[in-house]
Amino acid sequence: MALQFDLVVIGSGPGGYVAAIRASQLGLKVGVVERESLGGICLNWGCIPTKALLKSAQVYEYLQHAQDYGLKAGDTGFDFTAVVQRSRGVADGMSKGINFLFKKNKIEPVLGTGKLLAPGKVEVTRADGTKETVEAKHIILATGARSRELPNLPIDDQKIIGYRKAMTMEALPKRMVVVGSGAIGVEFAYFYRTMGTEVTIVEFLPRIVPVEDEEVSRQMEKSFKKIGINILTSAEVTKVDTAGAGCTVTVKTAKGDQQIECDVVLSAVGVSTNLENLGLEELGIKVEKGRVLVDDFYQTNVPGIYAIGDIVPGPALAHVASAEGIICVEQITGHHPEPLNYQNIPGCTYAQPEIASVGLTEAEAKNQGYDVLVGKFPFSASGKASAAGAKDGFVKVIFDKKYGEWLGAHMIGANVTEMIAEVVVARKLETTGHEIIKSVHPHPTMSEAVMEAAAAAYGEVIHL
Ligand SMILES: Cc1cc2nc3c(=O)[nH]c(=O)nc-3n(C[C@H](O)[C@H](O)[C@H](O)COP(=O)(O)OP(=O)(O)OC[C@H]3O[C@@H](n4cnc5c(N)ncnc54)[C@H](O)[C@@H]3O)c2cc1C
Repeated sequence: MALQFDLVVIGSGPGGYVAAIRASQLGLKVGVVERESLGGICLNWGCIPTKALLKSAQVYEYLQHAQDYGLKAGDTGFDFTAVVQRSRGVADGMSKGINFLFKKNKIEPVLGTGKLLAPGKVEVTRADGTKETVEAKHIILATGARSRELPNLPIDDQKIIGYRKAMTMEALPKRMVVVGSGAIGVEFAYFYRTMGTEVTIVEFLPRIVPVEDEEVSRQMEKSFKKIGINILTSAEVTKVDTAGAGCTVTVKTAKGDQQIECDVVLSAVGVSTNLENLGLEELGIKVEKGRVLVDDFYQTNVPGIYAIGDIVPGPALAHVASAEGIICVEQITGHHPEPLNYQNIPGCTYAQPEIASVGLTEAEAKNQGYDVLVGKFPFSASGKASAAGAKDGFVKVIFDKKYGEWLGAHMIGANVTEMIAEVVVARKLETTGHEIIKSVHPHPTMSEAVMEAAAAAYGEVIHL
């Protein structure tokens, strides 16, 4: 007998598990097929374990700078295995939390690899090779992604590694080359540098964190150089020779080829979607550039089959996957949700300094023809940042001069990832710059910088 559900979700990451819980709240009988651990990449190999590692690095950095705060910490050091174990423990705890949420919401986990057989039918192959069929009127694909491999950087998990290995190294490498300076690359670069590794970042584009506002990239480069990270931009890794004891990395730059010796190369050049052997071709489900094509409510071209998360076009972020999952099941159950506004998605990077941004960069706003008002407030002028010893960075805001629309916000500094939600909400509510200036922010907080940056845009800044 096939297992019967109203909805079956393939993949239990932040797309899949959130869709499952919301569907259960809305009265559907739900099964979730998962071939690894509940919680997907985000909880097991992405967002959460990296933040645990970064916290260890940050505490270590604090200890090393204890005297800046008038404290004596004595000899500081670390047990690298314990640092990694703490991160794994945090991830395991989060994954167990999903198991608890599934029980609470009467969601049935079906452990194994799922494949579409037909609309309404999924075949699940268990770890022991046995197969069973799961039937459901609605099927959501939420199979996520894995490290992308470049031909010049074949991942061997010894000397050329992806993100999973980077968070489970047995020992601290002496020298590391990080290829790619998106969020994942710079988070690992910061982590390893702070723990004592010699780190070189190689970025193909002219600046690091290239999707961010240019001023944010410049500040990040300055902060990273201050802690001794080497940065090569407009540079490309053309070859990695792993024949010797370490690796010799050949990097093509404007000034010619350079060779860098290191112990390990981290390939952080993005992700590839998990779409193989899912039955997409057999069912004629449309895929373009490695992403499943869907409508505003995540319906594929085959009725009853939906796709969400990293496997559909849009930013590959956990909160995006979750939002898509909720909209998808609310639509399935006839609740008429609003489509997701992809122009109002915050993006965060959790190195020190942190980066948080939403909306258009200054260059994008100008390219789109807006007459802009730009305001910037540096944390060096913030009382809270001074007290915290975290004066690097700033908040930059961009408004449309004509109507006061808040086009974008770009922050770099301590704890800014906790501050960006204010801008997301304000933009959702179509708040103008003047309303932000007149919204009293608590003193002393880093968040005052948002109000001050808005005031700066209108020539009303107080503390500059
Ligand atoms: C190192 C790293 C750090 C990151 N940090 C952040 C961050 O700080 N913030 C943020 O927003 N995003 C972050 N991300 C991105 C985030 O993890 C992803 O955007 C998010 O996990 C995508 O969710 P998803 O539900 O689409 O898929 P995933 O989380 O990838 O989950 C997919 C699940 O499907 C399962 N699966 C795949 N195929 C099958 C199959 N055929 N049958 C059964 N199961 C299957 C997989 O085992 C997996 O568990 C990070 C990613 C990485 C790699």
